[in-house]
Amino acid sequence: MTVPHITLNDGHRIPQLGFGVFRVDPAETERIVGEALEAGYRHIDTAAVYGNEEGVGRAIASSGIPRDELFVTTKLWNSEQGRDTARPALEASLERLGLDHVDLYLIHWPRPDLDRYVETWQALASLRDAGLTRSIGVSNFTIAYLQRLLDETGVVPAVNQVELHPAFAQRELRAFQEPLGIHTEAWGPLGQGKYDLLAEKAVADAAAAHGATPAQVVIRWHLQQGIIVFPKSSTRDRIVENFDVFGFELTDAEMAAIDGLDRGQRVGADPETATF
Ligand code: NDP
Repeated sequence: MTVPHITLNDGHRIPQLGFGVFRVDPAETERIVGEALEAGYRHIDTAAVYGNEEGVGRAIASSGIPRDELFVTTKLWNSEQGRDTARPALEASLERLGLDHVDLYLIHWPRPDLDRYVETWQALASLRDAGLTRSIGVSNFTIAYLQRLLDETGVVPAVNQVELHPAFAQRELRAFQEPLGIHTEAWGPLGQGKYDLLAEKAVADAAAAHGATPAQVVIRWHLQQGIIVFPKSSTRDRIVENFDVFGFELTDAEMAAIDGLDRGQRVGADPETATF
């Protein structure tokens, strides 16, 4: 199965479909990521705060897959934001991952109450220049926070990783990002199972029409819009299922029907008020 790659605005390429490990038990991470790599995933999305970077690193090491065939993302946790704290935080992540660089490093949340995301962003640009990460981006940034980064640093993020699923489709943000070449990454692409997305008629009908599962339909909905997506599962069958999405294509009418589910329904925290 060939996963399409997207070329980021800094020239680096990212596999459009990856594997997310939020809430993957650290004690199980090595085995579960190992299963994902065996299934064919080559893009892993983790974060310092997930507590499972060591397991990701061990799975990578024992897979024998050449480093340049893998794309690894991790994220700077909120308490480490700042001009001088970002570098030691990334070095600690690299140590846990057993890598000498990551492919993408993100500011995990803007935390506007701290008002440190601009200086943190400048620090990430230095980390990229030093080769500790190939690409840099942000997560959970609104249009206003992105605009401030652009105005005050001139450094354009490669990606913005945000909550995005059919009931929360982020159209305004995506329209802002597109002309800037900021690629959208979807977190919670299956709605984190927090509403019955997979039972929605538009999803179920498309699944029946293609002999696919509802989760496969939702993953296609992301991929066909150019969104970078990394569903999480701790279950081997679902890990395989979520990767097996290149044998069918949703029609324009099916895409439009799923688009119709957008109702501004978040399942996670609001970046403007989150204070964790
Ligand atoms: P997802 O939308 O990927 O949903 C995961 C849930 O869906 C799990 O409960 C999983 O259950 C279930 N599931 C997975 N596959 C299937 C399937 N085929 N059929 C039915 N149910 C399924 O949520 P996530 O929050 O995990 O988002 C994906 C990734 O995004 C994260 O792992 C993380 O890497 C990233 N993320 C980033 C955030 C940020 O702030 N930047 C915030 C949240 C996530 P089970 O495991 O039992 O199979």
